Amino acid sequence: MSDLHDIDKKLIWHPFTSLMDETERLLITSAEGIYLTTDDGRKIIDAVSSWWVNLHGHSNPIIANAISEQARKLEHVIFAGFTHEPAITLAKNLISILPSNQAKIFFSDNGSTAVEVGLKMAYQYWYNQGITKKTIVAIDGSYHGDTMGAMSVGERNIFTNAFAPLLFDVEFIDFPSADKEVYVVEQFKNIIHQQDVGVFIFEPLVQGAAGMRMYSPAVLDRLIQVAQENNIICMADEVFTGFGRTGKLFASQYLKHQPDIMAISKGITGGTMALSVTSCSDKIVKAFQSAEIIKTFFHGHSYTANPIACAAANASFTLLMDDDCQQSIKRISSQHEQFKHKIKNHKAVKEVRNIGTIIAIELESKDGTSYFNDIRKKIYPYFLERNILLRPLGNVIYIVPPYVIEERELNEVYDCIEMFLESLD
Ligand code: PMP
Repeated sequence: MSDLHDIDKKLIWHPFTSLMDETERLLITSAEGIYLTTDDGRKIIDAVSSWWVNLHGHSNPIIANAISEQARKLEHVIFAGFTHEPAITLAKNLISILPSNQAKIFFSDNGSTAVEVGLKMAYQYWYNQGITKKTIVAIDGSYHGDTMGAMSVGERNIFTNAFAPLLFDVEFIDFPSADKEVYVVEQFKNIIHQQDVGVFIFEPLVQGAAGMRMYSPAVLDRLIQVAQENNIICMADEVFTGFGRTGKLFASQYLKHQPDIMAISKGITGGTMALSVTSCSDKIVKAFQSAEIIKTFFHGHSYTANPIACAAANASFTLLMDDDCQQSIKRISSQHEQFKHKIKNHKAVKEVRNIGTIIAIELESKDGTSYFNDIRKKIYPYFLERNILLRPLGNVIYIVPPYVIEERELNEVYDCIEMFLESLD
């Protein structure tokens, strides 16, 4: 297999990886359940669900069958002027579990495009009514993807520096941590008072990439309420939080106020195929129901609503709604809760945060909390050498497991984290 490694090194540009990084990529030859198998026969626990996408385990036979059947029946068809059953069923399935105001589903391919579509929908919503509301408000520390629009509404940092002159202006409110809730609501009101704010975008309850930072449903509800009272379109980026991650099917279900637009991806196909959707309420739809051609939403991708991806999503949906899966989500959530209490007072731990199936352990660090905290270089190999894939966000170790992880397997991950904490002086 070493020639594969050589070819990989020569030809492939990996995501978020320096071209000077000489670390050999792990070659995965197969995967089943929570285990990834390498070419030299190692079995590695995927404790981060392969960038948070996997819900029902790798190579899930039910999803695999749905994919294979669909591939033999209809692999793809242009989605303008044509439609198909897997997309229709998926739209119906999604609408049945999304907040009750969501009325239409627009398909695209990944989290970033779902966000781009949402931003364009929101912006054109105003344009179609002849109203100029240029300002977009986002939350400090947010991450919404890597395309230009998604980068613009995300935190400006080393990832986006090269593109800074190209990114459009966005107003950022502070992260509404428990000690700052009142201040942040006031800050938001001030921006609304001074500028024509058209859109408010947020990752509901959990900022994933920022280090699994969590904030209260109460303050988000208040922010959405203020926004909606001021006629501002609210867009929930549920790319990460969707499909049970926070313990409910969508994080928005913790809220009294419903978003106008939602971006959804990652878990949608159970982690098998690239797919995303942007859903929106009737209020948004109405602004596009016009005979004037200029009011059409001119956006689409070659693989829009790919039938194989939709079939995978429908199979994943059935698995997700099954009682077994819902029980697993509850069990993982309570295991996380117990583990939090076990380690929260450890001297190496600054804070443990958890919601639903997500747990984050922020380590004490003299360099402060940051994605580039050097301790990451120690954490990642420590766990990988012990056959556990944990990809820390700087000094934040987190577990976001596939829901099929068993109690004892999750305990194995916890034990290894405890061992790691003990190893720190
Ligand atoms: N929004 C959020 C909240 C995310 O966590 C991510 C990916 N981590 C994205 C958008 C972008 O998704 P993708 O990587 O599929 O483009």
